[in-house]
Amino acid sequence: MSLIVQKYGGSSVADAESIKRVAKRIVETRKAGNEVVVAVSAMGDSTDELLDLAHQVTPIPAPRELDMLLTAGERISMALLAMAIKSMGHDARSFTGSQAGMITDARHGQARIVDVTPGRVRDALDEGAIAIVAGFQGFNRGTGDITTLGRGGSDTTAVALAAALDADVCEIYTDVDGIYTADPRVVPRAHKIDRISSEEMLELAANGAKVLYIRAVEYARRHGVTLHVRSSFNNNEGTIVYNESATEETIAAAVRTSTGTIPVQSSDPSNPTQKSETTVEEPLIAGVATDLSEAKITVVGVPDIPGKAAQIFNIVAKTGANIDMIVQNVSAASTGLTDISFTLPKSDGQTVLTTLTAEQSEVGFASLQYDDQIGKLALVGAGMRTNAGVSAKLFTALYEAGINIEMISTSEIRISVVTRADTVNDALRVVHTAFGLDGDEEAVVHAGTGR
Ligand code: ADP
Ligand code: ASP
Ligand code: MG
Repeated sequence: MSLIVQKYGGSSVADAESIKRVAKRIVETRKAGNEVVVAVSAMGDSTDELLDLAHQVTPIPAPRELDMLLTAGERISMALLAMAIKSMGHDARSFTGSQAGMITDARHGQARIVDVTPGRVRDALDEGAIAIVAGFQGFNRGTGDITTLGRGGSDTTAVALAAALDADVCEIYTDVDGIYTADPRVVPRAHKIDRISSEEMLELAANGAKVLYIRAVEYARRHGVTLHVRSSFNNNEGTIVYNESATEETIAAAVRTSTGTIPVQSSDPSNPTQKSETTVEEPLIAGVATDLSEAKITVVGVPDIPGKAAQIFNIVAKTGANIDMIVQNVSAASTGLTDISFTLPKSDGQTVLTTLTAEQSEVGFASLQYDDQIGKLALVGAGMRTNAGVSAKLFTALYEAGINIEMISTSEIRISVVTRADTVNDALRVVHTAFGLDGDEEAVVHAGTGR
């Protein structure tokens, strides 16, 4: 018997009708002879609504209480889903994150999973039931408190359960047909990718493609979980996210379990990202992602002497902020001063500004500038490793569209640029076209508000 973990996102369980539809889907998977564990998100945009509510009560909600509030969203959907399944004559049991053994560290709002002890989930399966687990939440043993795993964290719940239960495949059900070459809400001509490596998916997720949460992709990569991202609104084949270290047989087995229909070695020439026996080289570009959640801090007038960058970034590191791109200007010979700019999540902006300001005289810089009107675009593809012309093509496409580039950074399989926030969607479309990624048909977005 195969074990399938399915995750249903908020847009798939937005109302009572949707919950009944999803329940039917789960029951069909069970009737096909599989053991089924489901991780479920809060209904529709209810997490955002709970957050809004908290902020109406206080501008800075206490982190512990915020987690208490937000985890209620997933408890509602897990219970309704279990009821719906039971009403269809199948046994189902819902579990909160802590009942399902999702043990995390103590960091409210951004907790990391440190252990998964799904004894009660396993028992439920052994008794023939379908197990429904509330996504996005865990429990810290030290504090005895409930935690959340970060926005989008139900994906991580599903992957962690799949790893702990040694599932054959982890299916991520959402409101689009799979992973596309760009967000189909912004680029209607984006096309669905049949298969993508977890390495490339990690870069896309890290750079704003919220279809999968970055930590879920990291977890899947570390624990060798094969993902199948697909729509809960149809039976279409979605996107397989595979680990490069996995054998073709392992991937093929996961795909067979998931649908029994996806042709593993098909060679559709119209799909450049497909991995097939006939593919000699990696495709050049897997996809393009954008991110509007970052800001830029410029430290102006830094003495250009050894140790200053170390000093600044040690101060920044103390805040725990994840800095991304860094650019240091050539110093003006007359002054011996330079400017250093870096990007970071907007949510960390104020803390970092305050911390740096406190050390201003120690470091000896002149001033700080804060810019939260930036947009980041990242072009991702394993094939870039061996291709020299990618940057030139990217910069040319942006130049021809009249879009100014403010910062650039590269890794082996990614090129990122920072532009003005209000030009980033245009940048996405022109770059998508320039790299030949436009498909023949418009992508379908089945539901969701894109919030
Ligand atoms: P869920 O509620 O199912 O977790 P999310 O809203 O978190 O769904 O993620 C799905 C959304 O991700 C899609 O509706 C789409 O707008 C967005 N998205 C961004 N980049 C991509 C991409 N490359 N491929 C597919 N969807 C993407
Ligand atoms: N409900 C949570 C959120 O909206 C977790 C999730 O949906 O993955 O972020
Ligand atoms: Mg999501």
